Amino acid sequence: MPPQKTTAIVIRTRDYGEADRIVTVLSPEAGRLTLVALNARKSQRRFRNCLEPLSLVRLTYTEKPHRDLGRLDTCELIEAHADLRRNLHRLGAAACLAELAGEIIGAQDKLTDIFRALETALSLLSQGVPPDSILCSFLIRLLVLAGYGPRWQRCQVCGRPPSGALWLNVNEGTVICQSCRPSNDGRLYPLSFGTWKLMVLAQSLPPAKLSRLRFPALAARQTLALARGFIRQILGRELKSFEFLNKIGKGEGRG
Ligand SMILES: [Zn+2]
Repeated sequence: MPPQKTTAIVIRTRDYGEADRIVTVLSPEAGRLTLVALNARKSQRRFRNCLEPLSLVRLTYTEKPHRDLGRLDTCELIEAHADLRRNLHRLGAAACLAELAGEIIGAQDKLTDIFRALETALSLLSQGVPPDSILCSFLIRLLVLAGYGPRWQRCQVCGRPPSGALWLNVNEGTVICQSCRPSNDGRLYPLSFGTWKLMVLAQSLPPAKLSRLRFPALAARQTLALARGFIRQILGRELKSFEFLNKIGKGEGRG
């Protein structure tokens, strides 16, 4: 197969064999690619500074028939997002969003949107927009792109838009108003009306305008808890990056 060119965001890397690295990237055309960067640990010259997770790069790669791993041929740094690495909260938020974006790549028609959403979030985090708000806004946006979210507008039971506190059913991806809530369903996440309004805005605003949404502490806590619930539902496990958030004192023990 001839070499392919693409823009990509580096999601993660790990050592492979004596001298190589395995690089997982997200491409707007090809989705998630797992590529081996031959000799990347011995020779710095070829892939200099471009294999750091969260970097935006331009690369060429060659896919091998009947092999899972393609070969990374060339890689050139476009944007290192250096400023988001200088702050643990920004880095934690970026790591969660990159990991989620890398996991929900399934629906081919949403690839470009998922890639753009992640790149926008990384740029905003680099610029210093509050990381909690970016994390919440873009977790919601990525979950919507993964196919969750369209049923958050109205109560699942009575069909009315909520007007007060409400509940989110993670298993079904629906909301239930206070008066329709069944008495003993432990799988419902409580949402304040303010949190619900922010979620609906995060679902519908164009990505560039998501930078304007601000999640106060309660809304951030509720959004993070339900995002974790959804992600467990979708992936069958937690995001590894949530552990990092826990360590730096964000998102601990909820949901
Ligand atoms: Zn209702």
